[in-house]
Amino acid sequence: MSRFVYADNAATAKLSQTALDAMLPWLKEGYGNPSSVYRLGREARRALDGARDQVAAAIGAKPEEILFTGSGTEADNWAIRGLCEKLREKGRHIITSAIEHHAVSHTLEALEKQGFEVTYLSVDSCGRVSVEDVKAAIRPDTILITIMFANNEIGTIQPIAEIGAIAREHGIFFHTDAVQAAGHVPVDVGAMHIDLLALSAHKFGGPKGVGALYVRKGIKLPSFITGGGQEKGRRAGTENVAGIVGMAAALTEAVAHMDENRAKVEALRDKLIAGMLQIPAVRLTGDPVNRLPGNASFVVECVEGEAMILMLDAQGIAASSGSACSSGALDPSHVLLAIGLPHEHAHGSVRFSLGEANTEADVDYILEKMPPIAAKLRAMSPLWEERADD
Ligand SMILES: *Cc1c(COP(=O)(O)O)cnc(C)c1O
Repeated sequence: MSRFVYADNAATAKLSQTALDAMLPWLKEGYGNPSSVYRLGREARRALDGARDQVAAAIGAKPEEILFTGSGTEADNWAIRGLCEKLREKGRHIITSAIEHHAVSHTLEALEKQGFEVTYLSVDSCGRVSVEDVKAAIRPDTILITIMFANNEIGTIQPIAEIGAIAREHGIFFHTDAVQAAGHVPVDVGAMHIDLLALSAHKFGGPKGVGALYVRKGIKLPSFITGGGQEKGRRAGTENVAGIVGMAAALTEAVAHMDENRAKVEALRDKLIAGMLQIPAVRLTGDPVNRLPGNASFVVECVEGEAMILMLDAQGIAASSGSACSSGALDPSHVLLAIGLPHEHAHGSVRFSLGEANTEADVDYILEKMPPIAAKLRAMSPLWEERADD
């Protein structure tokens, strides 16, 4: 009898039953175009309005501050490219971290080719950005600070409220990629002085292909997609009504049950971490305290991450190495290098990301399968042999 343990919730989470139930009517009989004036259209419009209220409430925003997008990646692109386009005559300097998701880092690289200058702040060995470093990097021509809320690979949560306060004090816009945080840890755009925030439905039980961008009232971003009048004429295209409704339902549910979910998932995570650290030459990556509830990420010395993932898969365990996007690439993850891991250790990364659906039996199963997998791969490793000889 084979078991399946899904431990890759940071890559994507299963659609929640609540989200699916909320979506179905809009995929079936509620097929009206929200821009149409007759009843079927008006009903779809009302569903969008309700979803906007729900998403806003979940992060402490006002409904008119929420713009729907086609993904978290799109929300990041819109925020960063939009602000740069708007402010390019005011300044061209941007501050970010060395461990951003590619949705942010590759966008900034593209902007560098267009004449913007980017300061990539280094992080400490736990993956934390220093608030002092942010302050010290500010220049008269700095227009944007973009620092992710929580890291997708190593789970480290950044001091977002402190960074936001500094940005606000200096009159600089602050964007955060909160894709890993929303629905999992408290997010409050007001208290945290956030100007722009990206989130993505499929990381908290909503459907794939839907995201949202929070834009603080008073900031007018240029249009991202031109066409019809949807999303205040700034993101044209007929709305993904079912997807947006599903996102709102999933986020509302996640926020309503955040405390209990968090306690449960953190307990599983901590058990997994404690067990993994019993294996020789295994280290936790990321901040031991300020980390995402579900994130348990490690380096297993002298083991090739990809091989480990395949052997876990053969046992019915879905996990990842590096980030899902860079899997298959030979370069070790920029995040693992940024926390100071030598190349050979960074290659041996494994990330388990747990969710509410995981059980203690799942963790026990991972902890039963991991030691023999590490031992088997190390038996083939000349590096391990050398290490053992030391
Ligand atoms: C998944 C993820 C994204 C991208 O979101 P999509 O909706 O998949 O485009 C961006 N940033 C972080 C931190 C993520 O984990």
